[in-house]
Amino acid sequence: MRKEILRAEKLNTLGELAASIAHEIRNPLTVVKGFLQMMHKQEKGDNYYYLSLVLAELGRAESIINDYLNFAKPQFEKKEDAELAEIIADVTLLLEALAAKEGVQVNVQLEWGICVKTDRNQLKQALVNIIKNAIEATDDGGEVNISQASAGNESYVVISDTGKGMDSAQIARLGTLFYTTKDKGTGLGTSVSIKIIEAMGGAISFKSERGVGTEVTIILPTFKKERAEKPDQDQMNDAI
Ligand code: ADP
Ligand code: MG
Repeated sequence: MRKEILRAEKLNTLGELAASIAHEIRNPLTVVKGFLQMMHKQEKGDNYYYLSLVLAELGRAESIINDYLNFAKPQFEKKEDAELAEIIADVTLLLEALAAKEGVQVNVQLEWGICVKTDRNQLKQALVNIIKNAIEATDDGGEVNISQASAGNESYVVISDTGKGMDSAQIARLGTLFYTTKDKGTGLGTSVSIKIIEAMGGAISFKSERGVGTEVTIILPTFKKERAEKPDQDQMNDAI
């Protein structure tokens, strides 16, 4: 018992140290990126290609740091009433190019009028990580289905893919920091998503079968939009 507590404290201190280093590195990185972007814009010669590469790699480093910082301490800057369907639609649009590149068809089924109280950027990040994994796991010609349904004060967002799936040992490792099976993976995405969903008072579960696919279910506390009845009322008035 005592050993476990000590270990937890140690991990915490290490985590804090890593987070403060990540934070300190991010600032000069932002400055470097700013100048490089300026040079990239002005460059008409041979260096244009190299600068594009440098910027892409810098972007990668930045997103790893942001993911890590987000994991160490999710920041819910401004909580607001956000339409869940809108957030899912935004995220799907964001990942359209990736899906097209991988030859994966993404189908979305939304339910409008349902809100969640959160920092919308955080929820977007959580969904991006999960949906991105689904697309990356799926072969050319496969599908990712995203559906949203609500019951009472809860909503379910189900993301299923026809990808390569995971065995039970792999599922058990999900949410372990730095666990990845990809060449260029960081092993941060799932951990960050779990942390964000849990910080929102939600839950996330994974069901998967190798060679068949994966189904991720996210449960979130939600509420009906108060003004949901209003457009109907207006329509009725118009009709009269
Ligand atoms: P990364 O994507 O950088 O590898 P993640 O934390 O997002 O890190 O995911 C960790 C690992 O979990 C992935 O490398 C992959 O092996 C597995 N995984 C996550 N989602 C899926 C999925 N939908 N289908 C198959 N494997 C998955
Ligand atoms: Mg990932």
